[in-house]
Amino acid sequence: MVHADNVWKSFGHLDVLKGISLDVLPGEVVCLLGSSGSGKTTFLRCINHLERISGGEILVDGQRIGYREQKGTLVELPERETARRRAETAMVFQQFNLFPHRTVLENLVEAPILVKREPRAEATQRALGMLARVGLSDKAGAYPNQLSGGQQQRVAIARALTMRPKLMLFDEPTSALDPELVGEVLEVMRDLARGGMTMVVVTHEMSFARDVADRVVVMDDGVIVESGPPEQVFHHPEHARTRAFLAKVG
Ligand code: ATP
Repeated sequence: MVHADNVWKSFGHLDVLKGISLDVLPGEVVCLLGSSGSGKTTFLRCINHLERISGGEILVDGQRIGYREQKGTLVELPERETARRRAETAMVFQQFNLFPHRTVLENLVEAPILVKREPRAEATQRALGMLARVGLSDKAGAYPNQLSGGQQQRVAIARALTMRPKLMLFDEPTSALDPELVGEVLEVMRDLARGGMTMVVVTHEMSFARDVADRVVVMDDGVIVESGPPEQVFHHPEHARTRAFLAKVG
């Protein structure tokens, strides 16, 4: 589902990703761990071309999101085509990013109607189904500021699902939440994982990574230092830098 090969990313003189290679299989849940500044968010944003990569290649479901190949060179795609390709990859952010002046239901139907040109009635029906899936059927008419942080994040996940993504990218989806609200969001993500969704999750929730991930990938200073099943990485880490990271996060 994701094929990243020797990905480099620099901001000016700062090399943030230094040759990341990672394949994510359909239905796989991969958790990206690593200390602050190691490049996890940047890599996630590169996957759906919110950041341009400086070198290497990323394919999602076999295609490049922001480029096409023409006579051996890469040509940047027009923004509309990039948006169309990006729509198959949903991203859930730390800060929810809901439209504050729209109701929950309006938040959910906007993209299917505008990007996928779905009839409103169909989009509404599916949106209500997604709200039920995240346990928020009764909040369709509410505005984001009338919801708790956990509820807002569940709406953001429901909104992502309305686009029928093949891949979901989560960027620290529980980091902005009060501790007592973290569990309800993780439960929705667990449910998605059980349903076979392909997911790449940047998280500091070690218990989620331990319980739900098929694979844990540890990044440090722009490179992948270790990758394997959670049992192996958490209990038998091979690299000193993984051991140092795990000692820090407990
Ligand atoms: P955290 O766990 O704190 O979110 P992270 O592993 O996700 O960290 P990134 O957010 O990817 O790390 O940042 C990696 C490095 O890239 C940091 O040094 C950061 O300051 C730098 N960086 C990220 N985005 C930009 C940008 N748009 N311009 C310049 N530097 C950036």
